[in-house]
Amino acid sequence: MRDRQKSARLFETAKEYFPGGVNSPVRAFKSVSGPPLFIKKGNGCKITCEDNHTYIDFCCSWGPLILGHNHERVRNRIVETVKNGTSFGAPTRLGNQLGGLILNKHQYIEQIRFVSSGTEAVMSAIRLARGVTGKDKIIKFDGCYHGHVDSLLVSAGSGLATFGTSSSAGIPEAFIKETLILPLDDLDRLEEVMKKHQEEIAAVIIEPIPANNGLLLQDKEYLQGLRALCTKYGVLLIFDEVISGFRVGFEGAAGYYDIQPDIITFGKIIGGGLPVGAFAASREIMSHISPEGPVYQAGTLSANPVAMAAGLATLEELAGKHIYSQLEEKTQHFVGKIMEHVEEKGYPMHLASIGSIFWICFSQHRIKKASEIDPASMENFKKLHEYLLNKGVYLGPSGYEVGFISAAHTDDDLEMAGQILLRGLDHVYETS
Ligand SMILES: *Cc1c(COP(=O)(O)O)cnc(C)c1O
Repeated sequence: MRDRQKSARLFETAKEYFPGGVNSPVRAFKSVSGPPLFIKKGNGCKITCEDNHTYIDFCCSWGPLILGHNHERVRNRIVETVKNGTSFGAPTRLGNQLGGLILNKHQYIEQIRFVSSGTEAVMSAIRLARGVTGKDKIIKFDGCYHGHVDSLLVSAGSGLATFGTSSSAGIPEAFIKETLILPLDDLDRLEEVMKKHQEEIAAVIIEPIPANNGLLLQDKEYLQGLRALCTKYGVLLIFDEVISGFRVGFEGAAGYYDIQPDIITFGKIIGGGLPVGAFAASREIMSHISPEGPVYQAGTLSANPVAMAAGLATLEELAGKHIYSQLEEKTQHFVGKIMEHVEEKGYPMHLASIGSIFWICFSQHRIKKASEIDPASMENFKKLHEYLLNKGVYLGPSGYEVGFISAAHTDDDLEMAGQILLRGLDHVYETS
């Protein structure tokens, strides 16, 4: 057993300072066992906790670290940049460089604006869509997460109710009314609602690769159908690519499925481990943003040069090499080996995956809708998580979260982690 004494003590102190002891809720380990690990350093695919145990990390800061921890080029670029100061609140060459790199290599967008988080990107994209269309309502899907934006913290109510209920206190009823919530993978329902509310709907927002509530992979035909319906009813389509952007390919899900959304939001990888988000669209749509147009949006630390440097170093690596096919191959191999064992043993589960994202799903069937996830299966994840931590493998502390494989995970690391995972699954099913 790996002790967690120092982490436990730090967590006690943190609970005095921060609500729940954390600065972002899932970090509190509420749905797994024990206190959260306090991490003191990361290198490559490994992290080390305050109790000096090292783990193969599949959380990777929830996605940004596609090159792994403490990547030499990224670190050097940050250090070089920070020597010249940290923030000016004025344009910098680095902002141009990152903007230029993205726009030159991403054929689905023409202009971009940098912000400081994924949430801010989504919030701004929604305002932009409303400003462009002059309409207020937004359609979102049950099972997609878009950050803690007021009008998107809405979850499906009972049955087929189109108007959801707020999933957080503090959200005015009036905001909830502007959000329509629908199940994924159901074009008929979508068209019905679009027809009925045609005059009121500004945008549909979707995670084209839903990866915040399990990995609810959609069919390409569904996403194409969604695009066609948005065009038919004059509704803007927002792809929230905060997770999928630069993850399943440089052009994210838009490129993966070859679908042209109207607005794309970015976060996570775009900042290479520092706080960056962005929203992007055609030149025409972006011309509505202040100071060119009437939709106000601003940020004191937007396009912060140090953050731009980290994003630039990361995206240069991603743009320059065949990194995506390698990541996908490694992931397929990793997932394939585990699935062989699962099938041999007849365990009622599977691993869903796309690109370098995987999800441990405690159901045999592919799941496309949030409502199909059995909450009781999360007990299995809890057991697995504890087993893996004791053996040196770190997964995000919730069964609804996906895992990420980075360029720093070597074949040997993956072989070792895979073996531990197999034994972890044996442990789960032998004790259940
Ligand atoms: C992570 C995420 C967000 C929120 O980004 P933050 O940087 O945490 O605010 C929004 N949308 C999606 C799809 C995400 O994965």
